[in-house]
Amino acid sequence: MKFEIDTLGVIHSPYKEKFAIPRQPGLVRSATARLELLPPYNQADAVRGLEQFSHLWLSFVFHQTMEQGWHPTVRPPRLGGNERVGVFATRSTFRPNPLGLSVVPLLGITLEKGGVWLELGAVDLLDGTPVVDIKPYLPYADSLPHARGGFAPEPPRDLLSVRFHPEAEAALARRRDLPALRTFLSEVLAQDPRPAYKKGKPDDKEYGVRLYDMNVRFRIHEPECEITAIESL
Ligand code: SAM
Repeated sequence: MKFEIDTLGVIHSPYKEKFAIPRQPGLVRSATARLELLPPYNQADAVRGLEQFSHLWLSFVFHQTMEQGWHPTVRPPRLGGNERVGVFATRSTFRPNPLGLSVVPLLGITLEKGGVWLELGAVDLLDGTPVVDIKPYLPYADSLPHARGGFAPEPPRDLLSVRFHPEAEAALARRRDLPALRTFLSEVLAQDPRPAYKKGKPDDKEYGVRLYDMNVRFRIHEPECEITAIESL
């Protein structure tokens, strides 16, 4: 059987490219985003009662990578990027049906003239991600604290310590419109977004990543990350 499904809404998030997006929701708590519902789903009636729930399940499409297809095995970064496991044993973006699933805090619902926006926290979603379903998270059914977590039993522990070069500090101070920017950048880069093969080796490269309307430049000398510059785009 083949199915046709509709985009219900679109994510507006600070993550403008795949690089440096956390691998799961909840890892960067300060990553707030908005889900804009599209017609005909942008009706107050469609979200009536949703405000009673603290968290949501979002089903979405890995739209940026969906053309790249899939393989029966993948190499999860969690296993150092060398060991292969079955695609269905992973949360890889390269799947037969390019569908993702994230549980995220619901911070609020904004009803505007002709618009419904869900205010979200701690997302792992690229800007522009199409959302194909929204469901409330039910703690009694969805929380299974004794479940086995396979090769990813807990969040990554080897976080980097992030500091800001004085030039980056100055740029940060200019962004009064983004009061949580320091926390956000620190949380994002503490995750060490580099590919697995770069880790544990000397690395002199300066990286850049687009976040909000900025290019954020950084270098990593484990266990430290220095944000060298924050450039407006
Ligand atoms: N929590 C979801 C899941 O388990 O299905 C996503 C997990 S997947 C490992 C998370 C990664 O998906 C992010 O780090 C980012 O690189 C990628 N990603 C997020 N939104 C995407 C999109 N719209 N298209 C392609 N890749 C995306």
